[in-house]
Amino acid sequence: MAMSVIAAAVVAGLAPTPAPWVEHAYSRQWYLVWQNVVTPVSSLSGFSLLDPAAVIGVLGIGAGWWRGLRRAGATWRERTAAVARLTLHTAAVAAALYLVFLAMWGLNYRREPLTAKLDYDAARISSASLASLAGESVDRLNALHAPAHGAGPWPAFEDLPERLGPAFDRVQRRLGAGRPAAAGRPKATLLTAYFRRAGIDGMLSPFSLEVLVNGTVLPFERPFLVAHEWSHLAGYANESEASFVGVLICLAGGAQSRYSAWLYLSSQLVRHLPADARDRVWSGLADGPRADLRALAARRRQAVPVVRRSANRVFEPRRSRNRQLRTGGGSAARHRRNPRVARAGRSDRRARRRRAASVATTRDVAVI
Ligand SMILES: [Zn+2]
Repeated sequence: MAMSVIAAAVVAGLAPTPAPWVEHAYSRQWYLVWQNVVTPVSSLSGFSLLDPAAVIGVLGIGAGWWRGLRRAGATWRERTAAVARLTLHTAAVAAALYLVFLAMWGLNYRREPLTAKLDYDAARISSASLASLAGESVDRLNALHAPAHGAGPWPAFEDLPERLGPAFDRVQRRLGAGRPAAAGRPKATLLTAYFRRAGIDGMLSPFSLEVLVNGTVLPFERPFLVAHEWSHLAGYANESEASFVGVLICLAGGAQSRYSAWLYLSSQLVRHLPADARDRVWSGLADGPRADLRALAARRRQAVPVVRRSANRVFEPRRSRNRQLRTGGGSAARHRRNPRVARAGRSDRRARRRRAASVATTRDVAVI
């Protein structure tokens, strides 16, 4: 039995699955049918269902090993046989979990990429267009800072389904979903302490299809964080695609969510610019959004490097394997001139560089 479960997981992991079939039969049909059942049900509880399930699972495996080793005979041969048997059973449990993961959500990794479904042309991505969009992100942040901060308190996580849910629905329909995914209730988790140290802001539980968030993120980060996790919930498993759809969701919402999206986008765009272009773009940033980016960088510095590196080792291979949206080469980018940049050009260049460098430390602020 254990061997057949492991064999089934190996076959499921290695068997080729045509992307068009996954797209149309799984991601657009079956998955969304049960997502519309599972997420509303798991959203009924105010706490993460993954937490007790994980605790029970770990305790169960520990108890199984303890009992199995106690019952093993005293000889070296008997104890070795018991360890081999327990290892096989543990591997079978892991294989069964992998099969459930694939069925519940994981097959979305094998769907067609968004680049094949949208009007995407890699030739349009150039250093010039990158610099132009980075400059626009700074302009948008400057324009949105006052309306976003003046629109009342930033939404709490539990307010976001009501505030941002309609935009989530609209964006999914615009992307061709006939049956949009249900927005999940963002939940705190026992993993928050780990998330904070590992620099993780949120995750989707693929078994209960619920959104888990790091409760220590800053208020203006919440809309984009939840929109990103909802995009996973809608079946966009790829990290780049989830961020792209998350930005679309936020841009379809109010001033606060739009500001949250541009805050994420600006650091993602500017980090790919050459150093001098980066300085020029950041120098156009007004004091308000600059203070927010500094607060973000300070929060990120709370991550513990060794924990973060080990988390990256777990999550990064998947992230890089699935990265499809790439920016152009590293040639010098030209930033479109605007009055703010021109004024900065006349100011003390060293002071400007210092200021820009302090913002540039946020280059990794949005690795979610
Ligand atoms: Zn993600």
